[in-house]
Amino acid sequence: MSRFLSQRFADLEAYVPGEQPQDMQYIKLNTNESPFPPAPAVLEAVNAAEINRLNLYPDPEGRALRQKLAEHYNVGIDHIFLANGSDELLNFFFMAFCDQTRPVAFPAVSYGFYPVYACLYRLPYDEIPLREDFRLEPLDYCGIGKNIVIANPNAPTGRIIGVDDIEKIVCSNPDHVVMIDEAYIDFGGESCLPLAGKYENLLVCQTFSKFRSLAGGRLGFAIGSPGLIEDLDKMKYSTNSYNINRLTMAAAIATIENHEYYVNNSRKIQENRAYTVAELNKLGFETLPSMANFIFTCCPRMEGGAFYRALKAKGILVRHWEKAAIADWCRVTIGSREQMDLFLKKVREILKEVD
Ligand code: PMP
Repeated sequence: MSRFLSQRFADLEAYVPGEQPQDMQYIKLNTNESPFPPAPAVLEAVNAAEINRLNLYPDPEGRALRQKLAEHYNVGIDHIFLANGSDELLNFFFMAFCDQTRPVAFPAVSYGFYPVYACLYRLPYDEIPLREDFRLEPLDYCGIGKNIVIANPNAPTGRIIGVDDIEKIVCSNPDHVVMIDEAYIDFGGESCLPLAGKYENLLVCQTFSKFRSLAGGRLGFAIGSPGLIEDLDKMKYSTNSYNINRLTMAAAIATIENHEYYVNNSRKIQENRAYTVAELNKLGFETLPSMANFIFTCCPRMEGGAFYRALKAKGILVRHWEKAAIADWCRVTIGSREQMDLFLKKVREILKEVD
């Protein structure tokens, strides 16, 4: 830290992203990316003509892409907001809607960026404990009179709550904004997007990073009432008006036009998820029911950190957190069948070695 950093940030603990080794010597099952490349049409969309236009700024309103999303989700274009990854969207949510008089609540075990944003903006925040087996109890959020962020499916647990439960949470906090972070909704879960047209205080946040194989393009979006979208726009135009670059915009339009390709990939991920869980079961692992492209699993013979390190030594990266409540567990991204077979092979080797 230099002597110039504002005192406001002296104690801030920044978010630590998952490891991104640049030599690609690992099987990467640590940051929930898709193992599948973008659809071939995406490659064609990010073409020489588009690159040749990089001397020009992109459309700050992202109209062509928002129009595509509006058609795809059957909502008005004024219900859609684009962000540079859903991380940026979360940033704008905390910036726009939370303050000393409007605190925020989220699950105690959830996406690690939520408390970072709360600290960044010095917000009062509540971390609501999960129940048995990391289950999120919707009643814990009903009528709490705070802004709320819930990842659904939750991360890193993979557990999901139903659209009915989300509706109860949204209805019972009419004077606060409820953000449902659906980063992992397209791996078998039911989206609450149909509710977004019904409640002015619901924001649904999604990303192109997982199901849509575009983590490197950095694109997230929110769907909500035009008033909320206007507020998010105010944050955007006060920080970075050109937050989505030209190439990502072109890639995203082609992505939506090739929806079936991604649905098919998701089907494979869901099959690989069921297969991996069944194989781990045979080895005595405890794994939470997951509706995401990852599983949260507990090795029967080793503490989570030791299991993570043993896998890393064998060329497989998974994610582990030292936080006490989840220290026994590891999050494993579901990749291709070949990747999962290699992961399982290494797991079997590790278990043999500790025998
Ligand atoms: N929400 C959740 C729950 C996540 O796990 C992630 C990815 N780490 C994000 C949001 C952010 O994703 P992105 O910024 O790539 O859209």
